[in-house]
Amino acid sequence: MMWRSNNAPKGAAMNRLIELENQYCARNYDPLPVVLKEGKGVWLWDVDGKRYLDMMSAYSAVSFGHGHPTLVTALTAQARQLAVTSRAYHTDQLGPFLQLLCEMTGQPRALPMNTGAEAVETALKAARKWGHKVKGIPENRAEIIVCNGNFAGRTTTIIGFSSEAQYRDGFGPFAPGFVSVPFGDAAALEAAISPHTAAFLVEPIQGEAGIIVPPAGYLARCRDICTRHNVLLICDEVQTGLGRTGRLLACEHEGIRPDGLILGKALGGGLLPVSAFLAREDVMSVFHPGDHGSTFGGNPLAAAVGRAALRLLRDERLADRAQTMGKRLIDGLHAIGHPAIRDVRGKGLLIGMELDPAVISARAFCEHLMRHGILSKDTHATVVRFAPPLIITESEIDMTLKTINAIFDLLPAPRGGGRKYTVGASQRIAA
Ligand SMILES: *Cc1c(COP(=O)(O)O)cnc(C)c1O
Repeated sequence: MMWRSNNAPKGAAMNRLIELENQYCARNYDPLPVVLKEGKGVWLWDVDGKRYLDMMSAYSAVSFGHGHPTLVTALTAQARQLAVTSRAYHTDQLGPFLQLLCEMTGQPRALPMNTGAEAVETALKAARKWGHKVKGIPENRAEIIVCNGNFAGRTTTIIGFSSEAQYRDGFGPFAPGFVSVPFGDAAALEAAISPHTAAFLVEPIQGEAGIIVPPAGYLARCRDICTRHNVLLICDEVQTGLGRTGRLLACEHEGIRPDGLILGKALGGGLLPVSAFLAREDVMSVFHPGDHGSTFGGNPLAAAVGRAALRLLRDERLADRAQTMGKRLIDGLHAIGHPAIRDVRGKGLLIGMELDPAVISARAFCEHLMRHGILSKDTHATVVRFAPPLIITESEIDMTLKTINAIFDLLPAPRGGGRKYTVGASQRIAA
């Protein structure tokens, strides 16, 4: 058994639960062999009572840590008061939530949804309709430019513009109207723009692709190109937004404001799915009653939790904290200098460590971490993600680094290399 325990029946309970999931749940994930039952702050506990530091934060959805008391109070109080009404009626929660969201992000208007993919779909619908009705693109001809390596969710339209073969395999036919260009290449964006281009959809840092940080100045150049060609710049900040990269929005690193902004994940405070599409007035005004909607989107429970999450982010300056703690973590990872580390990159507390698969796979590394009481997850076979809750402390970062160092000490050094490690290109970009 991989999680060592001197009490065999404990592991047996864990195995039974894993087998139960395997028997009844669709096999669309490949989880690490741990069964969690409790979470508090940055910590998680499995059914045997073993404690783990959460370096995943549910793909950045748990930025405030597990069960943050302020958010749980907002959730339970609102649940008792009024939870779901549909938008057939106004509520006392939606207006105040969206007012704060718009004020904090500098966008005039928001359309509330639930999951990230739904907010992306909302952005795509808004961009197309804006293209046809405002920009004057002939009906059904609007094009949206996306980037190779994008991740925007799992709906059929979204996977249709994915460059990941597995995401698409067998799920076609796909919706037309998307053009894909290399990520990080502003000239390629400009070359792909046609009179039918309505929007450019981009992640400021590609999360699921392996924490890919584009060259400095990329987003600012994209902003300029989109403005000159009357193309909407839509930033998918579902993962990078809300403090994760050390700014409220990752766009702020380049001082730009997008025409459309997609938020999700952490917006629900780690308790509920809450997402939103925010945009310029002339973009959002393409939606008329009946054009678009969601039964749960903007429900009072979600609005109360979303508002409490935004306040927490602002009042506790969690973006600044992500910046400081992220620097401590990334500096510590750079300092390891093991030859199996190909690259360390990221911004704030969205960090990827790329490993040489000839030495160890990212999955195997994550299993080592798990045995040592740290939970992370591999992305794209070679990258280990470090994205803890933004409330993580210095001593917890240091503990993580100590554990990672200990794991590397157990690994063979490839090619007889000692601790020689040259700084890679993307490290300079991320600095
Ligand atoms: C996770 C993610 C999404 C999709 O969010 P879901 O809530 O899983 O639908 C969209 N865009 C980005 C950048 C993401 O990381």
